[in-house]
Amino acid sequence: MNGTNANGEANASKPAPWTPSSWRQCPIKQPVDYASESAVVKSRSKLQRLPPIVTPTEIWRLRRSLADVAQGKAFLLQGGDCAELFDYCRDDAIDAKIKLLLQMSLVLIWGGNKPVVRIARMAGQYAKPRSSPMETVDGKQMPSFRGDILNGYQPSEREIDPDRLVQAYFHSAATLNYVRAQLSSGIADLHNPMDWNLGHVGDPVLQAKYNMIVESITESLRFMQTVGADTTSNLRTVDLFTSHEGLLLEYEEALTRKLKHPSNRDVPPTMKPASAPEVSPLTGGALIDETIQEPEITGYYNTSAHFLWVGDRTRQPDHAHIEYFRGIENPIGIKVGPTTSVADLTQLLDIVDPNNEVGKVTLITRYGAGKVDELLPVHIEAVRKTGHTVVWQCDPMHGNTRSTTTGIKTRSFSAVFAELAAALRIHRSCGSILGGVHLELTGDDVTECTGGSQGLQDEDLGQRYETFCDPRLNEKQALELAFLVAGDQRG
Ligand code: PEP
Ligand code: MN
Repeated sequence: MNGTNANGEANASKPAPWTPSSWRQCPIKQPVDYASESAVVKSRSKLQRLPPIVTPTEIWRLRRSLADVAQGKAFLLQGGDCAELFDYCRDDAIDAKIKLLLQMSLVLIWGGNKPVVRIARMAGQYAKPRSSPMETVDGKQMPSFRGDILNGYQPSEREIDPDRLVQAYFHSAATLNYVRAQLSSGIADLHNPMDWNLGHVGDPVLQAKYNMIVESITESLRFMQTVGADTTSNLRTVDLFTSHEGLLLEYEEALTRKLKHPSNRDVPPTMKPASAPEVSPLTGGALIDETIQEPEITGYYNTSAHFLWVGDRTRQPDHAHIEYFRGIENPIGIKVGPTTSVADLTQLLDIVDPNNEVGKVTLITRYGAGKVDELLPVHIEAVRKTGHTVVWQCDPMHGNTRSTTTGIKTRSFSAVFAELAAALRIHRSCGSILGGVHLELTGDDVTECTGGSQGLQDEDLGQRYETFCDPRLNEKQALELAFLVAGDQRG
């Protein structure tokens, strides 16, 4: 990543100029070997001609919201499938997810008494990192399923297919089109009664508690209607942003566009040079001509989603994914886990957020319930010393995966809640802010995680185990988690 000076000598202190393709010069984890380079070129040029799926105006709306989250003025709810399939691009599945995220956000607003920013892991979450490129299915060795953007889950579809890059774009666009259409048609209209579906909660104390929260929310909405405070459009629809792991850089690069910044962008003071700077504020490299002509008018936007994150397996500071991520204007996330060193964390923040922009980076912590007490305080302290103001988000899913005695991958609701409750408590005691939660969930009635008020046991997992990657909270478990967090926040 380091550049060379005018004499062609290596320059260790300044990074080379960033371009959407500069990641190609770096070592990469989770590489993809396409059998046909010409087919990849064809897909790439098709993607480069297609219009953006999201716009800079929307991206900056989210960035401003995340700046609020970083400062404790709002809470972030992010959730969706582990691996989204092209087949989930269906009205019922999308409706169920929108409704669930909406209901969870209402509960969290009630609990935290502040606005909730909603980001769906949806409309593009098609690429999956894998621990091994090959796996054994029914005694046969075959390439691992790497997400619908690369290959199919069915054994007959395991070869990498470059045409899937283009299919990913169209499924992503169709999903977001339907989300936008449903939101503008009133799916999130709070005047409509909601089915909270709490019949499964057997414990009478919990039933009463959850019913009290629902009644309180319903009463607040009724009151607003009675006094006429609902005449604005605020109660009729909500923002729902999209996100995915930015794993397949071939795709991300093709949808990265140099676009005009929206006029209402909040430009942090550090981005307004009094005179022309000698180095690019974006790349740290020598200014190229076009930057001198229009230093603040355009920037590089990833137009495939509002928010992208770097996974735990691909966040090495000197590797391709971080090189790509440092150049885009979108708000970004970085997964932080038990193997993240303090030195790496500090270096990562300096690379991707050189101008210390509030809320530009979300640190998505995923240690596991057994490790969070030991590791999170150390990372909080390390980040405090850097001066970066990040969004701290807890992913209580990925550090809590376990196998049943029959080899089914699952997660216990109690461990998921334990890590989340610990993160809330630790941030409070360290004087920092837990800004949000990152969940793998579905609006469907699946049986993939154990526990919760339905009391699902290991033996029950076979009933509707439908995930093609990690186990997700079902609708009831996800809503219950929101109730518990809200209860915790209210004290
Ligand atoms: C994921 O979010 O699905 C994932 C793979 O997580 P992580 O990178 O934290 O392992
Ligand atoms: Mn996952």
